Amino acid sequence: MSDTLYYKSASELAALLEKKEISAVELIQSIINRTKAVDERVGAFNSFDEVDAIAQAGASDARRSDGQSLGPLDGIPIGIKDVLAVTGQPLTCSSKMLEKFVSPYDATCIEKLKASGAVLWGRLNMDEFAMGSSTENSATKVCSNPWNLDHVPGGSSGGSAAAVAAGEAIVSLGSDTGGSIRQPASHCGVVGLKPTYGRVSRYGLAAFASSLDQVGPMGRSVTDVAMVLQAISGHDDRDSTSFKSEVADYVKALSDNAGKKWTLGLPKEYFDTASDAASMEPVLKAIEFYKSIGCEVKEVSLPHTEYAVATYYIVATAEASSNLARYDGVRYTHRAENYDDHIDLYFQSRAEGFGSEVKRRIMLGTYVLSSGYYDAYYLKAQKVRTLIRNDFMKAYEEVDALIAPTSPQPAFKKGEKTSDPLSMYLSDIYTISANLAGIPAMSIPCGFSADGLPIGLQILGKPFMEEELLSVGHAFEQAHDFTNQHPKL
Ligand code: GLN
Repeated sequence: MSDTLYYKSASELAALLEKKEISAVELIQSIINRTKAVDERVGAFNSFDEVDAIAQAGASDARRSDGQSLGPLDGIPIGIKDVLAVTGQPLTCSSKMLEKFVSPYDATCIEKLKASGAVLWGRLNMDEFAMGSSTENSATKVCSNPWNLDHVPGGSSGGSAAAVAAGEAIVSLGSDTGGSIRQPASHCGVVGLKPTYGRVSRYGLAAFASSLDQVGPMGRSVTDVAMVLQAISGHDDRDSTSFKSEVADYVKALSDNAGKKWTLGLPKEYFDTASDAASMEPVLKAIEFYKSIGCEVKEVSLPHTEYAVATYYIVATAEASSNLARYDGVRYTHRAENYDDHIDLYFQSRAEGFGSEVKRRIMLGTYVLSSGYYDAYYLKAQKVRTLIRNDFMKAYEEVDALIAPTSPQPAFKKGEKTSDPLSMYLSDIYTISANLAGIPAMSIPCGFSADGLPIGLQILGKPFMEEELLSVGHAFEQAHDFTNQHPKL
């Protein structure tokens, strides 16, 4: 049985583990074998530790036979984006800057996963410091889209999406600052959820833009994503921006909300000509589906959408320039061998350690924060950010959730946008507003392009109402069969 386990869902596997029809060791072995068979082509993993993963799975089996199972995730392999701290494991952010760094502590979400018994599996490839939309900015290795190896998997959590799509992990964690969970999920045909800002602790997540960053789950089904979200959510004293409120039972909500007739909004600015027509088709069909099950679907307007990309690239770069100042060549980072004095040590180490996109962001961010430009750019962007959030709050007075495309086009070819950063930035046009507004949003598979590349449907929800968001997605998933369609590798 073990050779077919890697494409089963976490919920199915939880039942098999519970009935002792399979063991956690058998399951991780199936994942290890699969990873070894395909990852040379996919490039989803920066590294993995097979011995450690088998030991974790062995401990899970021992707990279960003692009647001490920690719950449904006990024994389920979860891939971790290489941006989250796991004690004793490398944390590289796919950067030369952190090439040799080993984390001395666990991120809170990792602590919580350990407490739920999940088997932490490997370090997943990403754009350097999560800056990018294609994983081509990784300093570690190339990551490919499992559906077509000539195409990018999306980014920055490209490894997290590709690993799940290729059966190299059952579920995974990514991070989303401007779409980095949803866009790669869409490009790789998996489910990816960015929680409300404050739903999941950011403690132990290497910071990119602290007011936008959120950790979130990816999986092959909405239920699997709900299971992981359940495990990682909640307040944390070590992250003062994490929210003090009860965490709903996300999995139970899926059945409680089954058959609900939601009122759904179509933000008209997301259905303009920026999208290529063929990739809009499955999204339009999904809208028809919701109507057919009795949901009310109405057009709404988010009038400040056109400013979102510009606003994001001011706020995110400003915060990045400050956050990345810590990588100075003195402590835990790459250190230049040749330098004149301590100032030159900073210069040389940063010049050698950072890739060109990271440098571009630091320069842009430093510029928009510099005296004389702060008011003109940064302060103004903060004001526009409030207008963008207000647009959503106004729309939510009328609707339960919004539905839209996740990305204006399917996964593009490798190299297609690398020489033109602006066109790369524009591929985030539908995802970044959710980060600016702090609202939860999810991408689910809804179809394929003519050449067989997955297309995602984005569902955007009310703050801290992930249970509704998941339920809206679940209704679509239940009536379609994208969960069981896999790339041919
Ligand atoms: N693609 C966006 C960027 O490059 C978003 C990245 C992210 O969400 N981490 O900034």
